Amino acid sequence: PTMARSESLLMLENFIGGKFVPCSSYIDSYNPSTGDVYCRVPDSGKEEVEAAVKAAKDAFPIWSSKSPLERSQILNKLADLIEHDLEAFAQAESKDQGKTITFARTVDIPRAVQNFRFFASSILHHVTECTEMPAMGCVHYTSRAPVGVAGLISPWNLPLYLLTWKIAPAIACGNTVVAKPSEMTSVTAWMMCKLLEKAGVPPGVVNVVFGTGAKAGEALVCHPDVPLISFTGSTLTAQRITEKSAPHCKRLSLELGGKNPAIIFDDADLSQCIPTTVRSSFANQGEICLCTSRIFVQRGIYSEFLKRFVAEAKKWKTGNPSDPTINVGALISKEHLEKVRNYVKKAQAEGARILCGEGVDPLALPPGNQKGYFMLPTVIAEVKDDSCCMQEEIFGPVTCVVAFDTEEEVIKRANGVKYGLAATVWSSNVGRVHRVAHRLQSGLVWTNCWLVRDLNLPFGGMKASGIGREGAKDSYEFFTEVKTITIKH
Ligand code: NAD
Repeated sequence: PTMARSESLLMLENFIGGKFVPCSSYIDSYNPSTGDVYCRVPDSGKEEVEAAVKAAKDAFPIWSSKSPLERSQILNKLADLIEHDLEAFAQAESKDQGKTITFARTVDIPRAVQNFRFFASSILHHVTECTEMPAMGCVHYTSRAPVGVAGLISPWNLPLYLLTWKIAPAIACGNTVVAKPSEMTSVTAWMMCKLLEKAGVPPGVVNVVFGTGAKAGEALVCHPDVPLISFTGSTLTAQRITEKSAPHCKRLSLELGGKNPAIIFDDADLSQCIPTTVRSSFANQGEICLCTSRIFVQRGIYSEFLKRFVAEAKKWKTGNPSDPTINVGALISKEHLEKVRNYVKKAQAEGARILCGEGVDPLALPPGNQKGYFMLPTVIAEVKDDSCCMQEEIFGPVTCVVAFDTEEEVIKRANGVKYGLAATVWSSNVGRVHRVAHRLQSGLVWTNCWLVRDLNLPFGGMKASGIGREGAKDSYEFFTEVKTITIKH
């Protein structure tokens, strides 16, 4: 019942109250590596969101009264089921998003599994606070309870990974959810819905409504019975969500864009730094909010760095994402590819040097991928700090390299953007590493590494990169309402 085919296209359906339900209209979804329409996604609006919120509200009393242990067991079962189908999920994610099959197999889907396991475990270990006031004859303690129906909105770059990073803590805490994945990457969320009943997730606890941000997303944000919205996406959309939710005083968690610096001092271990910085610039086609896009290199090693960095970037092979030897797959859409290419053109027009990639090296694609949205990893040098390539989030396989002289100077320049999500610092001087890390305006600072995550700890950005944090304790606090109770004896 879940996979109807018309004109051999994959047809998705909304998942509401434990059932797949068709929608009255649909949106085309493209395979980014071929440029073909291969799937149709429900174009949901107010009506569908209304039905999903109602189902979530109806399911709340039973789900929220289950013990954390019962919910934990269900989350673990769901993790096992996704893991059992890991290869099918990875294939689907790669086809739908354009990312390489290797990335989907080793990062996206394993992390989706881990998200459920992690929150299944962490929900069992929270403790609340208690204080005493003997002189008043009082003890105070806090209690936490799920909030209600959570609205979860996720982007297209890490589809199932980021959606489950929200669903898992939301339902572990006892909330019920209405999730809206990106209209461009909806397939793996739909596949997950097929496993919910078998995992023991009661009908209505997880509802998924597919569609665009303007229609389905906004209907969810404006719904009076959805008191909290967890959003990952662009800063522009977050501003709109903030405005639209303001009349209802909703609780918001906003994980937004970045313009992440890498700071490389002349005492850095370049044999570690160069391959890692190529990876931090180009992994997942540069379509990760944590990707490096401004590389500051200390003057003494600047030319050696550039030479070795470009040589390493050129080793990255761009092509058919389903080929396991490929490092760079397709970008998400034709429009996005055009946008990313335009940044390179603008840099060129401003007098920057394009050292490899777009417009410089030939891009050879297999016959089946000629109409796909591909672009080579591109390195730009001699670009000014106030140029749009150094200020705006490009979100593609493009990185800028510039020189700096002093620690003081580079901290100021690294902080000189509106964003503050992630930074990397490379140096073998421990004192310097700590000093610089403390002064960077960034929610995450990785030193001598990149993307090493402990899910227990806060994740999120400063400035235009977001409001709130996600992680074991942070997500627990976001998805629960706290109460302070005082007992006089
Ligand atoms: P986007 O803001 O265009 O869309 C994100 C989601 O919001 C989609 O599901 C979309 O349909 C929905 N949406 C759009 N308009 C809406 C509206 N008016 N009301 C409600 N929902 C709406 O972002 P994108 O292009 O899908 O994703 C790329 C962006 O996400 C980049 O800026 C990237 O940095 C950011 N991102 C941030 C993180 C993080 O953790 N900080 C992680 C991944 C991606």
